[in-house]
Amino acid sequence: MLSNFQGSAKSLVELLKKQGVEDASVLKTIENTPRHLFVDDVLKHKSYENTALPIGQGQTISQPFIVAKMTEVLKQVGVSGKVLEVGTGSGYQTAILAQQFDEVYSIERIKSLQWQARRRLHQLDLYNVNMKHGDGWQGWSARAPFAGIIVTAAAKSVPQALLSQLQDGGAMVIPIGTDDQVLTLFVRQGDDFIHHKLAPVRFVPLIEGEVS
Ligand code: SAH
Repeated sequence: MLSNFQGSAKSLVELLKKQGVEDASVLKTIENTPRHLFVDDVLKHKSYENTALPIGQGQTISQPFIVAKMTEVLKQVGVSGKVLEVGTGSGYQTAILAQQFDEVYSIERIKSLQWQARRRLHQLDLYNVNMKHGDGWQGWSARAPFAGIIVTAAAKSVPQALLSQLQDGGAMVIPIGTDDQVLTLFVRQGDDFIHHKLAPVRFVPLIEGEVS
């Protein structure tokens, strides 16, 4: 199957279309990105299923539908240019972002995951990604403002530092909540933030403070 990953990826993309992903460029990127490179050997046979999978350290690679939707939502509200991702994890979402936006900044609190993700992105010749080991709850003020922010772990409350690092007109997509999580979109208009609840979701928690 893996020698023919594009066949498997094509079936996945057909499913994502049926589930409502519309952005042709995002779908093409998913079709051309080898998700099997972002999971452990024992799980490779599941890499083109539309499911989240464990990546070690209690973390997961997000479900392809969610990866596609979060990317599409940012594009639909006009985000382009420079984006920040919080929660690099496997680096799969990062790889999709790197092919959709000019510059990607990505923060991960677990160093081993960050290093592995960095290697994978280089393997795919994706060099427009800047990575940082640290607490993404605080964002990346030295590189702010961002046109878009995508958070791939669930925050128990809205991280104010992230909102403050959005440029005017910029947007952030983030799961909010603990047991019941809602994917939420914030759009900055001057000093105001308009928010829209998008869908119920299930993410690992965004951990505030320490790094490991
Ligand atoms: N987009 C990733 C999702 C990984 S799961 C993928 O598809 O592979 C979420 C990731 O967020 C985990 O790797 C976890 O370590 C990281 N994380 C949790 N809290 C964080 C924080 N405060 N700062 C940075 N990363 C964080």
